[in-house]
Amino acid sequence: MQEPGIVLTFDDDYIDNWYTYLPLLDSAGAKVTFYVCKYNRFTAEQKRKLTVIKNHGHEIAFHSTSHYNMPEYVYKYKHTLEELMRCEIEAGLKLMNNDGFYPVTFAYPYGAHNGLFDKTLMRYFKSVRALNGTQDFSKSIIPSAKNDLLFGLGIDKSSKRSDADIISMLESAKRNNTCAIFVAHRINTASKFSITLERLKNIFAYAKANNLKYYSVSEISD
Ligand SMILES: [Zn+2]
Repeated sequence: MQEPGIVLTFDDDYIDNWYTYLPLLDSAGAKVTFYVCKYNRFTAEQKRKLTVIKNHGHEIAFHSTSHYNMPEYVYKYKHTLEELMRCEIEAGLKLMNNDGFYPVTFAYPYGAHNGLFDKTLMRYFKSVRALNGTQDFSKSIIPSAKNDLLFGLGIDKSSKRSDADIISMLESAKRNNTCAIFVAHRINTASKFSITLERLKNIFAYAKANNLKYYSVSEISD
């Protein structure tokens, strides 16, 4: 039987911030997925931190080489799909592979995608994640297996989602043996693209009190 759960994802290259909060994630028993971009700019120390994060059981996933808006890259700036895949997927993946990171899931920069990109990226990844920019929270409450296209709900300060929205999604996941998938960027910084510590701790508390399982994205993509 499927266990109800929660899929927490963090995007971009905020490796130092994530590393700072690794003890908090560990103490909550939270296993999360970090979608990484701009790996070519990581310092040796940041690569070491990413290895530690991976070794603590978190998933290291892929968020493109340079964080371009992919539809704009192709349709506005007139690159081919092949160029997109070579530069924004293969080049960045290769750098990570060389250092022992093998991402198997992908998140679109800005959530910008289309059916052609989804189909093409399935040659490289088990699943692709876009964003749920709607008030239809059910798009972000999903089965705990066999997902290939995911719509994460933003929970940073910028998202304007309320704690009540988030808890009601977790309640729904619990009731239906499904998973709620969320997207954040940094933890507890002044940037609006951060989740507050209070919100993160509320989520952890609900998950603990209700025995929600933490799923990585690769787990729910099989
Ligand atoms: Zn991003």
